[in-house]
Amino acid sequence: MAKIFCIANQKGGVGKTTTAVNLAAGLAHVGQRVLLVDLDPQGNATMGSGIDKRALELSVYDVLLESASIAEARRRADKAGYDVLGANRELAGAEVELVALERRDQRLKTALAATDAEYDLVLIDCPPSLSLLTLNGLCSAHGVVVPMQCEYFALEGLSDLVNTIKQVHANLNPELQIIGLLRVMFDPRITLQQQVSEQLKAHFGDKVFDTVIPRNVRLAEAPSYGLPGVVFDPQSKGAQAFVEFAREMVARVAQLR
Ligand code: ADP
Ligand code: MG
Repeated sequence: MAKIFCIANQKGGVGKTTTAVNLAAGLAHVGQRVLLVDLDPQGNATMGSGIDKRALELSVYDVLLESASIAEARRRADKAGYDVLGANRELAGAEVELVALERRDQRLKTALAATDAEYDLVLIDCPPSLSLLTLNGLCSAHGVVVPMQCEYFALEGLSDLVNTIKQVHANLNPELQIIGLLRVMFDPRITLQQQVSEQLKAHFGDKVFDTVIPRNVRLAEAPSYGLPGVVFDPQSKGAQAFVEFAREMVARVAQLR
């Protein structure tokens, strides 16, 4: 049975897509069967996996509107070794179209049930909002991975997300929990980042992953080559941190079963 995780944070530019793509590649690297679902109309996870979002014949949009199955719409990220259910701008329209439909927040969950046996892990790259798209992700998932930068306003933004997760847990998906907070783009030379990191640990305890993802330019360069950093430059500090994080995820997921 696949374990399903949303990579979510309602802020933009915090490292969700970088985490989704590199965790997918890291998990594939350690032998896991992975599906990456791009739920952001920007399609960055799709492009960052080497799949041209403009050339998608079928995408997560068609899956949400139930005109295609995941088996029909997925593509293989060959070099990275995982499958991708891609997204492009068309997905922005789904938000409006879904509102009028029944089971509008359960569409992705239903679709994922059909491919459940084919994957060990499914990662869902969420858009920077607490929208109906994100809700579809949260209703499908066993857990949420929250990437965050250790900056002054980081904790403030977190409470909205935590409240949303609590509400979804109470009303729509009793399995949902925060699997962990991932410190990303970390620069240990910056005192403020160390302080916020300590606050996070004091407040969230072992919900904070041990692995820390450093700020690393190779991770930022990789998408323009259509590759996850883990594949683009496996020796880089960023790539190595994501492989280590993949191992930590596998261990944490094993505790869930
Ligand atoms: P989000 O999906 O939350 O909007 P992204 O993953 O797209 O965030 O990251 C925002 C920007 O930061 C991108 O340009 C990305 O390349 C860069 N970035 C993300 N993580 C790192 C990192 N660890 N080191 C350096 N740059 C990073
Ligand atoms: Mg993104």
